[in-house]
Amino acid sequence: MTVGIQPSKLIDGKAVANTLTTQIAADVAALRSATGKVPGLAVILVGEDPASAVYVAYKHRQTLAVGMASFEHKLPADTNQDDLLSIVNELNQDPSVHGILVQLPLPSQIDPNMVLNAIDPTKDVDGFHVQNAGRLATGQEGFVPCTPRGCLLLLKHRLGDLAGLHAIIVGRSNIVGKPMAQLLLAENCTVTVAHSRTRELPALCRMADILVAAVGRAEMIRGDWIKPGAVVVDIGVNRVTQGGKPRLVGDVAFAEAAHVQAITPVPGGVGPMTIACLLANTLSAFRHTLAARNN
Ligand code: NDP
Repeated sequence: MTVGIQPSKLIDGKAVANTLTTQIAADVAALRSATGKVPGLAVILVGEDPASAVYVAYKHRQTLAVGMASFEHKLPADTNQDDLLSIVNELNQDPSVHGILVQLPLPSQIDPNMVLNAIDPTKDVDGFHVQNAGRLATGQEGFVPCTPRGCLLLLKHRLGDLAGLHAIIVGRSNIVGKPMAQLLLAENCTVTVAHSRTRELPALCRMADILVAAVGRAEMIRGDWIKPGAVVVDIGVNRVTQGGKPRLVGDVAFAEAAHVQAITPVPGGVGPMTIACLLANTLSAFRHTLAARNN
């Protein structure tokens, strides 16, 4: 629903993602003609979390749609850590697999850091391996987590140069908030990271030129927390029931945000960019493999 927001203020993540995936599909086709090979993405899903199952199915379809190979590994919820680690290890060794993604969250018997750090960093297309996180933090080339990378592309698409803008990120997770902060810092924004212990959050948010919401609480950020003219990126995906119907809403009270300069809708904003960036990272991993073989 886009009630109260002028269409020109909407940041159309679907359209930007389509442009990106069209280019990726063309590059994959060209590389296939030149080498006879295509990038391969392996996705591991442990358990039956319904939201995760939907994401994995969507990733599978999109991977095939750009001409890549897709390998799905669906494991039961009671899979033990050693079994999962041995699958990761097999995929690390498999030359037809260029990217490996372990869908989070994992069941409680499995330590996610142990698994993420077992992925070959050159196949870590989610960018969650500690080596890639360190590379991002120190300004070195590496895989960047897909959601923050997608958000940055949307911000640059809308605003161009971000230097000097005050970016406030609400949320500090390793997979979204922290890498988002690193990326915006690298763009010369002044960055503030807020979290559940932050004091006076509404007043803080009102200072943002760029407000990024990555909390996971339906419509927590109200319209009067947003400075007139701010650009808002809503990463949150929350399933709610409104008027007896299931709906997806973001972390921002979208209908109250008419005074923004621009805002990403939920759905149709950040979500499509996450998948497009996953495919972009997989293509990069494939190119690195080809380059390494030619050296
Ligand atoms: P996490 O639960 O890991 O992190 C949530 C963050 O929000 C934490 O840092 C937490 O603070 C902070 N927080 C929680 N409550 C409050 C509060 N009342 N005030 C201020 N901060 C608060 O979530 P993720 O980072 O994994 O995901 C965030 C959202 O983004 C979710 O809705 C998720 O579904 C969505 N998402 C969307 C993607 C997409 O492709 N569109 C991809 C990935 C995630 P603290 O650290 O203090 O606990």
